[in-house]
Amino acid sequence: MDFTISPKMATIIEMINEFVDRELIPLEPEFLTRPTSELLPVIREKQAMVKKMELWAPNQPREYGGLGLGLLEHALVSEALGRTPLGHYVFGCQAPDAGNIEILYLFGTEEQKEKYLRPLVAGEIRSCFSMTEVELAGSNPVMMATTAVKDGDDYVINGQKWYTTAADGAEFAIVMAQTNPEADKYHRASMIIVPCDTPGFNLVRNIPVMGHGGDGYFSHAEILYQNCRVPQRNLLGREGEGFAIAQERLGPGRIHHCMRWIGICNRAFDLLCTRARDRRIDPDGTTLADKQIIQAWIAECAAEIQAARLMVIHAAWRIEKEGAKAARQEISLIKFKVANIMQMVIDRALQVHGGLGMTDDTILAYLYRHERAARIYDGADEVHKVAVARQILRRYGKANR
Ligand SMILES: Cc1cc2nc3c(=O)[nH]c(=O)nc-3n(C[C@H](O)[C@H](O)[C@H](O)COP(=O)(O)OP(=O)(O)OC[C@H]3O[C@@H](n4cnc5c(N)ncnc54)[C@H](O)[C@@H]3O)c2cc1C
Repeated sequence: MDFTISPKMATIIEMINEFVDRELIPLEPEFLTRPTSELLPVIREKQAMVKKMELWAPNQPREYGGLGLGLLEHALVSEALGRTPLGHYVFGCQAPDAGNIEILYLFGTEEQKEKYLRPLVAGEIRSCFSMTEVELAGSNPVMMATTAVKDGDDYVINGQKWYTTAADGAEFAIVMAQTNPEADKYHRASMIIVPCDTPGFNLVRNIPVMGHGGDGYFSHAEILYQNCRVPQRNLLGREGEGFAIAQERLGPGRIHHCMRWIGICNRAFDLLCTRARDRRIDPDGTTLADKQIIQAWIAECAAEIQAARLMVIHAAWRIEKEGAKAARQEISLIKFKVANIMQMVIDRALQVHGGLGMTDDTILAYLYRHERAARIYDGADEVHKVAVARQILRRYGKANR
């Protein structure tokens, strides 16, 4: 593996870091205390600045107006942007839009690309991804109750989904629904584009997460699909290919998430060290940083962050060289390992801040609340651990049950 960063990437990362420090981190106090809808005009202003700097949509295809960076290159971008919750959204590379863009690019028809992909990459509209159901275990999504039944030229969709991130204000959802109930369990579901103003697309509520409902992009919705009718030409790919398409989307998506989490680790670590340096704990000027227990935390966090970062870069490198299938084990390893390291680093940073850490006067409480979910979405820790262990045990001749 080559660890050199090209001069082009070094410049891009420097520009992004400067922008995050100068334009985005100062917005955080407002972000933490006001609804997203009130902050939207200023977010739009910052997005326009990013477009002017020609850094918009770094990971998206050039032909649609993105920068066209490769996976490893975008991993570095994601790390820099991850230092603030506003980063990815302001640069036009936020989940779930980034994944939906990939799906539309790879599997969309020309009509779907013009109608949905082009404005999505341009940041003129947002989208959401509606797969997880309230009543069935999302960890095994082949168990799916939502149906899309053919009627004339349409599909009629019925079902109850939740945790549809960023549905509030989205233009369309990519919905996973059963179209072929008779097929084997991996070929029953399809992905279908559903405009959010379709009658029968009912956004029930933004689910309060750790006490905060959120709104706009920063929210997770429960949605009832009630006789929701869309044309059959809204199907993505072929019928029954929903899981195959989802697999395609998940490998690179996990690299983006994990490097965003490394960015979060860097930010929390920076706050930890600054507070330890400055917080006096006796009249003689001793600070927290003089205490060995805090020094040990600092060294442990530094080691864990560096190890996690190298693991993610290695996984991205392997995906680029050999494809997501060959890198399956590396992808599962980073998914649970980095999520847990991030949780540990945020927790220690919060602890060092004492009572201040529990308030919304720093970004730490927000990170503590919202990033806990990293151990659940895109495959819970346990699911990835089981997957890794099975792959390893197969090499020891242990057949799966
Ligand atoms: C903040 C957030 C955002 C999300 N965004 C989206 C989105 O945009 N679109 C969308 O469709 N979904 C989204 N989700 C849903 C997410 O994908 C699911 O929560 C996840 O797949 C887990 O499914 P579940 O909640 O039904 O938990 P379950 O499947 O019921 O699992 C519960 C727990 O059981 C354990 N477990 C599960 N399977 C196994 C196993 N095989 N072996 C051992 N232990 C196991 C794990 O500890 C797991 O956490 C989001 C979730 C969160 C929290």
